[in-house]
Amino acid sequence: MDHKQALYRRFARYVSVDTQSDPDSRTFPSSAKQLKLGAILVRELRAAGVRKAAMDRHGYVTGEIPATVKGRVPVIGFLAHMDTSPEACGKGVRPRLHRNYRGGKIVINKKLGVELTPKNCPELSACRGEDIITASGDTLLGADDKAGLAIIVTAAEHLVRHPEIRHGKIKIAFTPDEEVGRGVERFDVRKFGAKAAYTVDGDTAGSIEDETFNADGVSIRVRGKSVHPGTAKGAMANAVRIVADIVSSWPENRLPETTEKREGFVMFTDLKGSVEEAEITGIAREHDLGRLKGMERHLSSIVAEKRVKYPLADIRLEFREQYRNMGPVLARRPEVMDNLIAAVKKAGLTPRLKPVRGGTDGARLSYMGLPTPNVFTGGYNYHGRYEWVSLDGMQKAVSVLVNLAREWAK
Ligand SMILES: [Zn+2]
Repeated sequence: MDHKQALYRRFARYVSVDTQSDPDSRTFPSSAKQLKLGAILVRELRAAGVRKAAMDRHGYVTGEIPATVKGRVPVIGFLAHMDTSPEACGKGVRPRLHRNYRGGKIVINKKLGVELTPKNCPELSACRGEDIITASGDTLLGADDKAGLAIIVTAAEHLVRHPEIRHGKIKIAFTPDEEVGRGVERFDVRKFGAKAAYTVDGDTAGSIEDETFNADGVSIRVRGKSVHPGTAKGAMANAVRIVADIVSSWPENRLPETTEKREGFVMFTDLKGSVEEAEITGIAREHDLGRLKGMERHLSSIVAEKRVKYPLADIRLEFREQYRNMGPVLARRPEVMDNLIAAVKKAGLTPRLKPVRGGTDGARLSYMGLPTPNVFTGGYNYHGRYEWVSLDGMQKAVSVLVNLAREWAK
């Protein structure tokens, strides 16, 4: 099956709509422009033959493909998100197709000096002979996650056109606001009615993800004591200096810039204050929940030392749960990953399991009762001007979804 042309056309249409989400917005979805793409997707799902395609008042686009086999086959779902990252411009995206990549560099924008090379992106080397899509150097591409949208619509069209493929009922959902961490906040898991689901929001072909970080927010508030500096000896507690002391006491080998793979970290993200009062906020991340708690105990002990060192100050430390690793949930439902691994192999790829150094909508969904690992899109270098996606990788992801539909009906 050759879906490359259909995939490219869809993808180019979706990235031309600016759907950047907004972390500072209080509305849902966080930016109204996402609804514009939602309306297009409803039309495209209908055109592909998907039933009950509609967008609800929160901006969730859903649809379904009826089963082709009778009997009790579990309902599965495919999900992708419509928004793009607030970290880079998503307006005026002009995709560029670089056919038959021969190795070496890909010039994204000569004038701006934006180019991909096997050196700045080793993942490219695996894509020789493939068609690579980039942006034009001044925006992100939006493969995260418009590649996922195009893959799901194309897989749905294939399933509708081939009723001889044996599968159960398939549900589809496109969500807003994933990039600002609120994608499934108002998602009705029960109404969706699936027993398992897959987000199509990963990276290069073959990679699948069944683990995310455990994530807590960190907040440290210091109330100091302001005194005229001329008479401050023994009487002042300078909140600015105390928070700086706490930040610099955190071990250097437990930071995002010094860790990889399964190593956890604390990152301080915001700092504000004066002599009288100061606050630092941040995030704590670990795949292992026990080790996350261990890191938090370590931070608590640093704060306890500072309380002794600065008796005139009041120092408060708080942790707030953000999301949890979906690994343990998926481990209790082994068929969800077993079917995915089989589907990837049947697409001619070697499955590469890796833990996500971040979260996914699937992590939240898994704890809302819908186990949801993550499938590759064929893309890489998300959230910036160096973002790219392999059209061949996208086509392989279509095969994986079609295979998944089959595997669940066995
Ligand atoms: Zn994404």
